[in-house]
Formats: sequence, structure tokens, C-alpha cells
Amino acid sequence: MKIDPTIPGPLAYKTNFLLIWWRIWFEQTAILLMDMLPRTFDIFLSLFLLIALAPILLVRAIAAKVSTGKVLNAEPLVGRFRTPFWRLCFGGDALGAKFAVLLNILVGDMAFAGPRPMTEEEVSRLTPEQGIRFTLRPGLFSPYRLRRKIGIAYDNETVSDINFYYSETVKGDVGLVARSVIGDLLAGGDLRPTPPVLHFFGVDIVNTTMDEAVDWMVKRVRDSAPASVAFVNPDCLNIACKNENYRQVLSAAERVLPDGIGINIGCRMLGVSLLANVNGTDLFPRLCERATKEGLSLFLLGAKPGIAEAASLNLRGRFPDLRIAGVRDGFFAAEETGQIVKEINDSNADILLVAFGAPKQELWLAEHRDQLKPCVRLGVGGLFDFYSGRLPRAPVWMREIGLEWTWRLLQEPGRMWRRYLIGNPLFLYRVWMQKRKEM
Ligand code: UDP
Repeated sequence: MKIDPTIPGPLAYKTNFLLIWWRIWFEQTAILLMDMLPRTFDIFLSLFLLIALAPILLVRAIAAKVSTGKVLNAEPLVGRFRTPFWRLCFGGDALGAKFAVLLNILVGDMAFAGPRPMTEEEVSRLTPEQGIRFTLRPGLFSPYRLRRKIGIAYDNETVSDINFYYSETVKGDVGLVARSVIGDLLAGGDLRPTPPVLHFFGVDIVNTTMDEAVDWMVKRVRDSAPASVAFVNPDCLNIACKNENYRQVLSAAERVLPDGIGINIGCRMLGVSLLANVNGTDLFPRLCERATKEGLSLFLLGAKPGIAEAASLNLRGRFPDLRIAGVRDGFFAAEETGQIVKEINDSNADILLVAFGAPKQELWLAEHRDQLKPCVRLGVGGLFDFYSGRLPRAPVWMREIGLEWTWRLLQEPGRMWRRYLIGNPLFLYRVWMQKRKEM
């Protein structure tokens, strides 16, 4: 009798069953191990820190008992699988109060890395999709918290939590803890006021979020209210200290926005909080997305020949319906200016991006303010170099610890060393002087 190989016999069923069983066992064990690894890391690190810091913790506990009558305070929070727990903290608000949280981590109420723990009241406001965060232990450090500290939390907390849920590894946790400690050192505690305007050496910077900044620009176009926008980093503020013309142009701009970790550190020195690092490079894709939705058009002016075109091609790949009314490089003779202004106006663009570097772009925009038709005009520095692919942007982990400037320094040391190696300390010195005068 001939056996038809396409018809599965009893042996095939048995083999299939064994294979399926093996796969389930293998997958479940892998999942269990993956889950156990971050927990093992938490137990070892919390235990190590508790032992290493034991003398300090003992002194801290005695100090708490003497000053407040209580060694530990406890705050009710919601943990993994929505189980309530008490987050511990030493009494009194002297340094090291938060070290008691190591006990929460050791017993498994919390992890070093995970979504921020929430109060019952916050949990009651969550949507069902946001419930995914409860499959993980709440963390002492979360990616969202880190980015908020550094001022680059442009996505909402749920997106950040979900990304963390799908990508957590022990290596990732170690990196997050290390970056968070650095972030805390740079940006400091949370308890500082957040004024609507930040003052640095006579320049007023709007303290706002990325979403609000984009909304504001779109509204200016909708209301046909011309507006110049400048992004300033410590280098720009250093230039403004010497260049009166530039300082006046910044004062006359409808908006000046904060760019970079230097402004965040400056804010910390002045005792205030920066809401977000609203730099042109991170704002640009969000602006393109909104412009596409609203049907607004962009004109890209600046950078070396071919760069604005390449950036525009990349943008078309990413936002196929985005209207780019025109592009033009930033190296032209003074006599060509009239022709370029005409080209921009004839394109009927709503938003003009000028990338000549600071202060040249701001001075050029101010000089041609009354001739230019696009409603919103932005000075965007090296933006097209990044979006054309000519210069790669710093990796996210570097941006999360405020080291994007080091990346730029390594990319173009000859041009950038003065800006960063002399400019950064000079900026901090100037902020310190301003602080002394204000006191
Ligand atoms: N640039 C220009 N015309 C000039 C001088 C500079 O278009 O006359 C361009 C230059 O090619 C670069 C940008 O302006 O793309 C300046 O970049 P930089 O990194 O200095 O700007 P930042 O973002 O640091 O202000």
C-alpha cells in the first residue's frame, strides 16, 4: 500500500503536538526569565546600596526621629497589578530622605526602572489602554521622568510607558538608571517655580511646551498675524551680550524659544524650572505634521547648495502631503537678496524657515521683515543639515543626558570648539553673575 505523504498520520500528529508543547514551554520559560532578570537586578542593586549606605541611612534615620519624632513617612500609591503600597521616605526634608525607597525596591513594591508610581486619584483618571502600565512594577526612574527633567518629553506619558513595556531589558534598565542619575544632577529637584517667561541677560525667553509652540505658530498663520521666532541656546545668549543689534532683534521678535540643555542648567542656577527644551530640530517634524494637516506651506531657505533640496526630499518621504512651496540655498550675493525675497513671496508660503546660523538669520529676517510675505518666519540654524542627512543627529541616549553639544563638537571640532569649550563656561559664569545681581 502506498502512503500519501500529504495526509498526516498519527505519528505526524504526535510530532506536531510535541513541537507545539515544546514551543509553549520554551516561550513561557523565556518570558519568566525575562521577567526575573530585571527583578534580580533590582534585588541585588537595592541590597548593595542598602549595605553600602548603611552608616548614612542610620544617621539619617536617627536625624529623622530626633527632628520629626518619626523615622519613616509613607505615601499611599498604586503598584503592580493595581495593588496599593506605601512608598517610604525618611522623616524631615533634609538630604537623603528619598533613600528609604530602596526598601520598597528590595521588597518588590517598586523597581529601579518602570512607569512612574501613581496615586489612587491619578489612577481613577486613566483610560483602559493606559492600564498596561500596571503589568510592570512602578519605577523609581522612568523614561518619561528622565525626559521631562531634561526637557525633551515631547510625547505623552502613556506613549513613553508603552514603549518601555515593549522594550525593557536589564541593559536598558541599567542605562536608564545611569542617565536618570546624571539627569537629576543636571536639572535638580522638581520643586522650583515655572515662570511663563525666562530672563537671561536682557533676553526674554518664552517658557512653554512643544505642542503649545506649534499651536501658536499655526494660529499666527490662521490669524494672518506676522511673527518672527528665534531659538536661543547659550551661544546665542553669549552673542546677544556683545551684539546690541542682535539683542534688539531678539527683543522685537514675537517669540524667543529655549534651545538646549544649557538653558535648562541656567534655569536651575536661577532657581526656576524650564518646561521644555523647545529647540528647532525637535519642533520641525511636529510643525511639518501640523502644516500637513492644516494645509500650510513651507519655504526652506539656507544651508549649502543642495542641502535644502535634500531635506525637502526627505520630508516629502515622511509627510507625502506636506506642501513645500520652495527651497533655496543660503549662499548668495547681497545683490541677489531682492530676487530671493521675490521668490519667497511668489511661492505664497505660509511659513519661512531661514537656516543661516545665529545671529545672521535673525538679523536677515529683521532687515526684510516688512518685505516678506510668509506669516511665520523662523531662524533654524543647522536644521537642514540634519534633515538632509548631511549631519547625523546625536543618539537619543546622548540627548537624554544633555550631551548633544558634545556630539556637535566631535562632528565639527574646528568650528565648534570656541562655541562650546569657551562659550559654555562663559554662559554659566554670566548666569552666576546675573543671579548675584538679582540677590
Ligand atoms: N549658512 C548659510 N549661509 C551662510 C552661513 C551659514 O546658509 O552665509 C548655513 C550653514 O551652511 C549651516 C547653517 O547656516 O547649514 C548654520 O549652522 P549652525 O550649525 O552654525 O547653526 P546653529 O544651529 O548651531 O545655530
